[in-house]
Amino acid sequence: MSLDRLPNYLGGRWISGTGTPASLFDPVLGAALVQVDATGLDLKGGFRFAREQGGAALRALTYRQRAELLAAIAQVLQTHRDDYYEIALANSGTVKNDSAVDIDGAIYTVGTYAKLGATLPDAHFLRDGEPASLAKDAAFQSLHVQTPVAGLALFINAFNFPAWGLWEKAAPALLSGVPVVVKPATATAWLTQRMVKDVVDAGILPAGALSVVCGSAAGLLDALEPFDVLSFTGSAETAATIRAHAAVTRLSVRTNIEADSINSALLMPDTRAGDAAFDLFIKEVAREMTVKSGQKCTAIRRAFVPAALYDEVAAALRERLSKVVVGNPRDERVRMGALVSRAQLSAVREGLSHLQRHTTTLLDGNAAAIVDADPKLACCLGPTLLGVDTPEAVESNAAVHDIEVFGPVATLLPYADLPRGIAQVQRGQGSLVASLFGDDPEALARTAMALAPWHGRVHVVTPDVAAVQSGHGNVMPQSLHGGPGRAGGGEELGGLRALNFYHRRTAIQSGPSVLKKIQET
Ligand code: NAP
Repeated sequence: MSLDRLPNYLGGRWISGTGTPASLFDPVLGAALVQVDATGLDLKGGFRFAREQGGAALRALTYRQRAELLAAIAQVLQTHRDDYYEIALANSGTVKNDSAVDIDGAIYTVGTYAKLGATLPDAHFLRDGEPASLAKDAAFQSLHVQTPVAGLALFINAFNFPAWGLWEKAAPALLSGVPVVVKPATATAWLTQRMVKDVVDAGILPAGALSVVCGSAAGLLDALEPFDVLSFTGSAETAATIRAHAAVTRLSVRTNIEADSINSALLMPDTRAGDAAFDLFIKEVAREMTVKSGQKCTAIRRAFVPAALYDEVAAALRERLSKVVVGNPRDERVRMGALVSRAQLSAVREGLSHLQRHTTTLLDGNAAAIVDADPKLACCLGPTLLGVDTPEAVESNAAVHDIEVFGPVATLLPYADLPRGIAQVQRGQGSLVASLFGDDPEALARTAMALAPWHGRVHVVTPDVAAVQSGHGNVMPQSLHGGPGRAGGGEELGGLRALNFYHRRTAIQSGPSVLKKIQET
C-alpha cells in the first residue's frame, strides 16, 4: 500500500516534492505512516511570496487585529484537538498526558498571546520608552520605535515538540506582523503539517502568512535575506552548522538558538528525608525523567542532593521510578510510551553507555518490562537512574556535566556544602532551567540569584507552592525560555518580551513636531 505524501505549503499553494520521500514511523508498532519530501520546491520564490504578500498583509493590520487572528487560530486548533492526539499517539508514541504537554501546551500558548496582544495598542508599531532630549532643551529629540522586521521568520524545529514548537514561536511572530515558514523535524513533521493545514483551510490568515516545508532542510538557509529572522531548536551540532552559514555570517540574519542543556535540580542542604521539600524533589525528578520519555529540552539531567541524603534519595527515586509502566501508549496501564524513533533509541543507548562508564547504574531502564509491545520493534526504554556516590567524585567527573542523554535518564549527584553544590550546577556551562527545593526562603533566594547568570529560568519550589507550581520542565508562555552558553544563548517567550526578536528598534531623531506626528500614526 502506498503511503500518503504530505504536501508542503509554500507560495500560497500546496505542493509535493519531486524526490525520494522520507517515511515517518510509529515508534511503538514500527509501521510506516506517511511520507514527506521537499525536493524541488522553489524556496526562493516561496520565501519572496511570504515576505511580499504575507508580510505586507500582516503589517497592514494592527497588533490588536493580529491578536484576534491568534484567538481564531486557537479556536481552530481546539476544534481539531482529537486528530492531533491521534497523530501524536501514532507518530510520537506518547501517552495522553505527554501528548497534552505538546498539543494543549501549543493551544494555551496561542491563546495567551491572543490575550497579551489585546493589551497592545491598536497601532502598527511599538513605542520604546519616552523621547530623549539630544539638545539643551527638548527642541531636538530621539524617539525609539519598534517596527516588525521586514522579512520572514524561518523556524527549524526539533522532533520532540511538533505542536508546541511551532506555536510558541509562531504566536509571537504573527502577533508582531511577521510571516512564518516552519520546517519541522522530519521524524514528527506530520503533526506540524496538519496544524498548518487546519489553519490554512480555515482561511484565518492572509496568503503567505504561514507556510510549512516538510523534509530536508537543504536550501532553506540559502533562501534567507538580511531582514529575515531564523529561529532554530535542536542539537548543538546542527546549531554550530547553522551559525557558520553565510546567511548568519555575511547577511547578519538575526538568529535565535535553542540547543541542548544539562539542566539541574538541587535539594537544599537543610532538608531531611521525609520533609515536604524532600518529597517534592523526588516527585519532580521522577516526573521530569518520565514525561515524554525524558525527551524534553528542559528535563532534569543532574539531580543534586546533600551528600548525607544520597542513599535515601536514591532509594526513594528507585522505588518511584520502578513503578512506572513502560510500553504501548494505547494500553491503559502504560504511563510512559516510546522514544520517538529507532535513531533516537540508538542515540540514547549510545549516550547512556558512555555516561555509564563514568557513573554507577542505580536503576537500569534496559531491564524494565515493555508492556503490550514487541521489545524488538518498540523504541521503549525504562527510566534509568545513574549516580556518582561522593562529592569528590562529582567534582572530578566531567562527563555528567557534559553528556546530554535525550531520554528517560538522570544522574544523582551529592554535594558537600551549598557553595560547592552551586559550583557543580554551574558546570552545565549554561542551561535552560535549574530548580531548587527547600523551605528556607532566604537561602533559596540567595541560591536562585547565584544561579541566575547561568540559566534562562530558575524554578524555586517551597512546600507552600506545591499545589500551584508550574513544574520544572513546563515552559509557560509568560516566562522566559532559553538559556545562555551551551543552551544556545537564545530567548523565547517571556510574555511580550518575545516580540523583541521579531521587531527592529530604530531611533527617530527630530524635533517635537515630527515626533508628535509619528506618535499619532
Ligand atoms: P537536530 O538533529 O539538530 O534537528 C533539529 C532540526 O534541524 C530538524 O528540523 C532537522 O531536520 C534540522 N536540521 C538537520 N540538519 C540540518 C542542517 N544541516 N541545516 C539546517 N537544519 C538542519 O535535533 P533533534 O534531534 O531534532 O532534537 C534534539 C535536540 O534538540 C536535543 O539536543 C535537545 O536538547 C534539543 N532541543 C532543545 C530545545 C530548546 O528549546 N532548547 C527544545 C527541544 C529540543 P531533519 O529532522 O529533517 O533532520
